[in-house]
Amino acid sequence: MRCRACRERRRWFRRLCDECAQLLAVFNAHRGADMGAMLDAFMAVGARREAVERFLAADPDGHGTIRDRIAADMTNDLLAAFGQTARQSVGEVKRLRERGLWGAFDRRPPQ
Ligand SMILES: [Zn+2]
Repeated sequence: MRCRACRERRRWFRRLCDECAQLLAVFNAHRGADMGAMLDAFMAVGARREAVERFLAADPDGHGTIRDRIAADMTNDLLAAFGQTARQSVGEVKRLRERGLWGAFDRRPPQ
């Protein structure tokens, strides 16, 4: 059996390996946090950098990658701050990113 997020081996009764399950729990606990805060939260539980990268690129239940979900949450918070009620869906974020319009908005700025 393989983890649905990273495709590593996992225990048969789990959907995710222990590492991804932990990252998913952190993600759910910090839903709405921006990418920087989310990465800090992952690091705070001692997650390995490769595991985090893999998890961000994963789409564990077919609703979009974790990275796109964080970006969609950030965009919606931003829209709400400007009084906009339109919600940006994960699919829309993915489309913008694939068209190259998304830029580096959801990445950490270079140090
Ligand atoms: Zn995994």
